[in-house]
Amino acid sequence: MSLGVARKFTSILVGIAALLVLSGCGREGHSAESTPPGLFIDSTTEKFLQKAFEETKACAGMTEGKYEDVSVILMPPVFPCPHYADGCSGEYVRPNSFKVGTLSVWRHEVLHYLLDLKTGDPDVSHANPLFKQCT
Ligand SMILES: [Zn+2]
Repeated sequence: MSLGVARKFTSILVGIAALLVLSGCGREGHSAESTPPGLFIDSTTEKFLQKAFEETKACAGMTEGKYEDVSVILMPPVFPCPHYADGCSGEYVRPNSFKVGTLSVWRHEVLHYLLDLKTGDPDVSHANPLFKQCT
């Protein structure tokens, strides 16, 4: 190998190495800005809660109750509550609070709230057929 060919070969190797190094950066999130530390709720989650609230209200044929009036508290999947010894995954707390351990119980808890608003009884025994129809 002549000196000129060796230099070209070396510069090609350096170029390939540089490309490999560069292609490894910035695509796996290394150069992306990190988000601030803390607990965040994506806006689509709030949209889901609002939509499901309205759907449950419509299913139950209720006019009372507005999503804007309720308070939602994010909880662990199972948390201590007065209703079950093993804990709850959701709980409606009078007059307008919801402890939510999993979003799948949201409609169920909303129905407790809507029944409480309409009848003054949240039906903790789940006797109302709307629990089967609307959750
Ligand atoms: Zn319940």
